[in-house]
Amino acid sequence: MEHVDQLIHAKWIITSEQDTPLENHALVIQQGIIKAILPSDMAAEHYESNVVQRYPSHMMIPGLINCHTHIAMNYFRGLADDLALMNWLNHYIWPAEKKWVSQEFVYDASLFAMAEMIRCGTTCFNDMYFFLQATAEAADQAGIRAHIGITVMEFPTRWAATTDEYIKRGLDFYEAYQNHPRIKATLAPHAPYTVADQTFIKIKEIADRHQLKINLHLHETADEVNQSVAEVKKRPIKRLHDLGLITPDLIAIHMTELNDEDLAILEKTKPNIVHCPESNMKLASGVCPVATLDKMGLNVALGTDGAASNNDLNMLGEMRSAAFLAKLTTKNPETLAAKQALAMATLHSAKALGIDSLTGSISVDKAADLVAIQLDEIETLPVYHPISQLIYAASRHQVTDVWVMGKQLLKNRKLTTLDEPMLMDKARYWAKKIGSTGFTP
Ligand SMILES: [Zn+2]
Repeated sequence: MEHVDQLIHAKWIITSEQDTPLENHALVIQQGIIKAILPSDMAAEHYESNVVQRYPSHMMIPGLINCHTHIAMNYFRGLADDLALMNWLNHYIWPAEKKWVSQEFVYDASLFAMAEMIRCGTTCFNDMYFFLQATAEAADQAGIRAHIGITVMEFPTRWAATTDEYIKRGLDFYEAYQNHPRIKATLAPHAPYTVADQTFIKIKEIADRHQLKINLHLHETADEVNQSVAEVKKRPIKRLHDLGLITPDLIAIHMTELNDEDLAILEKTKPNIVHCPESNMKLASGVCPVATLDKMGLNVALGTDGAASNNDLNMLGEMRSAAFLAKLTTKNPETLAAKQALAMATLHSAKALGIDSLTGSISVDKAADLVAIQLDEIETLPVYHPISQLIYAASRHQVTDVWVMGKQLLKNRKLTTLDEPMLMDKARYWAKKIGSTGFTP
């Protein structure tokens, strides 16, 4: 008998790398890494452990990876709804950020958002915001994986006054965290309409020098495309391509309003795409043609965007919305099957972030980033196909246990690294402050 750190038995294991769920199998975990996956009875014969957990009516899936967030915006959830993107940004979100965003705000709001993410099976997120160290400190405490974007824009915020200051503060963050096992820096020029050509060129040089991914909101709305054509006689994708930014190291977020010229550039350059269906639907921004992009061989990942435009960080809901929207817009129910929706939220998101050798599927030698979901409930019985139940029927409360690198962050619905009552008190405290000073756009 070999002694190992952990043995986890589950009714179904969805590896995300094969179509058929494994039934009555066990995961053997050593130092946070999956060492073996084998039938439960064989695992009991070959391995022993002081930590043996059994999930006889659960499915085990790879940790979900939310590929586009602004997590500190959880404190602006519900502040301004039912508005178009530029009205929402110019008259509500940017003024609120100008007034409230600080180190303390971002730290408190990030911890609060991480609690929401862990409670619905998210083990990694790819963020774009301000006060990067505050988000990183919160992620360090929570135990979640975090990719934190060095935001750059041409206009001043409470985080930085000039593009040089955004970059300098971002690189200080990058240097402080470059050896952290779970927290990584990326570059995040905000969007084509908030970043000038010379700044994009500078960002590309930094990305090449430090081997960093670049995140960018791109082709979010028809207005963005029309404005670009009016101002520089080029669609945003063409402009960015001419600047050398559309490469496999780009994470292009939203990507609606794609014409043949755009698609030809994308087919040649193969950037990663992040689809945010709920934010796009709520702001009535447009639709990303995920089936077309997938057919062209592009990697399409999934994200929620911030909770102020979604209004949650629920990747179960996002997978369902992605599947439904793709079926409706192609008028074909075979488009984006349940297992493809799960792949977008796991392996495809890991590929976009460049961490698919570490996580994104339940595979030997990858990290034990895992989620257990109870299917033996009113909401998801009977279980003919576990993945169908997960995508089309399961609710967040059915996520019972979550691990990152073998460390359990959620145990029988209780957070192990975060204090739920304290997080709720803080959220009430900030809401009172923001509300009581009369936020008027
Ligand atoms: Zn966004």
